[in-house]
Amino acid sequence: MMTYNQWHESHSKKHKKIVEKLKAQGMDEWDIVQYFIFDNMVEKEPDFCELYATNTKCHEMYELNCYMCGCPHFRFYQTPRPQDDVLFHSVCSINSKRGKQSFSNNEVHQDCSGCTVPHGEDYVLRNFDHEWEKMMENVRN
Ligand code: SF4
Repeated sequence: MMTYNQWHESHSKKHKKIVEKLKAQGMDEWDIVQYFIFDNMVEKEPDFCELYATNTKCHEMYELNCYMCGCPHFRFYQTPRPQDDVLFHSVCSINSKRGKQSFSNNEVHQDCSGCTVPHGEDYVLRNFDHEWEKMMENVRN
């Protein structure tokens, strides 16, 4: 099982490689965002996400966009934060009303399965940066 930090580092490298390739092909921001639509990514970038192998979306939504996967509002702790006898591994910085906290064995992880905030095209275009690390600069704590 990967830690949040391992996932972050590995995803960052994959994202960078794809964006560099698309920039070299002359794509602008809009084209890049279109390229990251789930159906296209499944076909062209099968190694970007383990869900692509089974053509499974992490969120059931029309035109799921994978560009900001990871979510800029997610916060994970490399050392879990103790609070009220439980250990927080991750939280949502905007307290999304569609997010949940998942508790098990006094450990808390943020459950984003019901929240689609970073996967809509408008959101991605508004918050676009070529550098994934820049978009995610507050995620790792
Ligand atoms: S947004 Fe979902 S389907 Fe797309 S790369 Fe991330 S986890 Fe995979």
